Amino acid sequence: MTADSSLDRRFDRALASLRGLAVGDALGSQFFVPANYPLLKRRDLPAGPWQWTDDTEMACSVLAVLARHERIDQDALAHSFAEHHDFDRGYGPAVNRMLRLIREGGDWRELAAALFKGQGSWGNGAAMRVAPLGAWYADDPEQATHQAEISAYTTHQHREAVVGAMAVAAAAALAANPAGPPTPTDLLDGVVALVPRSAVGAGLRRARDMLDYGDAATVAAVLGSGRRTSAHDTVPFALWSAARALGDFEQVFWTTAQVGGDVDTTCAIAGGVVAAHAAGAPPAAWLEQTEELPDWVPTAVRS
Ligand SMILES: [Mg+2]
Repeated sequence: MTADSSLDRRFDRALASLRGLAVGDALGSQFFVPANYPLLKRRDLPAGPWQWTDDTEMACSVLAVLARHERIDQDALAHSFAEHHDFDRGYGPAVNRMLRLIREGGDWRELAAALFKGQGSWGNGAAMRVAPLGAWYADDPEQATHQAEISAYTTHQHREAVVGAMAVAAAAALAANPAGPPTPTDLLDGVVALVPRSAVGAGLRRARDMLDYGDAATVAAVLGSGRRTSAHDTVPFALWSAARALGDFEQVFWTTAQVGGDVDTTCAIAGGVVAAHAAGAPPAAWLEQTEELPDWVPTAVRS
């Protein structure tokens, strides 16, 4: 095995995860439209094409930076976010403003640190975009959490947002194990072991204890499903849902979407984790209905 072929495999896994993330995001966002709620109940697909949102746009930057630098380069990542920022993709107001200021020459370190009166954002932005990074580091889950931590700081400096990103990257790395996806308990145990003590970590331990619950709505009522748009209100449920059906993208999608909340983000997280392993790729028909990734996304390492 040459160094290059292992790099190519990292890229292929990350791109596969990005595609799953984009399908989860784009299809999930369809269920913010009240007219589509009955479809969700029946597990019917809305008419395409489905447009992806900020989750996918930012994840494309994560993959682009990995393909070019083979690790997270914070300056390159912050500038890619700013350069490709499309105001109409559903970003939160604080991130919209920050990315505009970076484009105008502002320093991302100062801007990200100053958000929310100096506490930093504890939103989902760092977690929702990071599954492809975890897939990239499937051969080194600890490095996945380390690189995720570095990637988070470019926009989200509150501890919970950072740990949320670490948890999603760890989950994608473990899910992508070439030997086959782990059991639900092994996945969440593995993630818990890789993240520091935090509200996200506490939520993940609770999620692990609820793996045998059949009713997603009850689990979401306990863990949260993104209604408060914080990492600790979002990541534990998304990973609970992914862990329960690794290898079955459709099942994971419907379980995640049906409880409502921040549906494009919970489905982007769960979709990116499940699709990190080839067995969890989204159905071809779903990929066809999903808007294509932007043309600046690399198609190979160093392209
Ligand atoms: Mg979104």
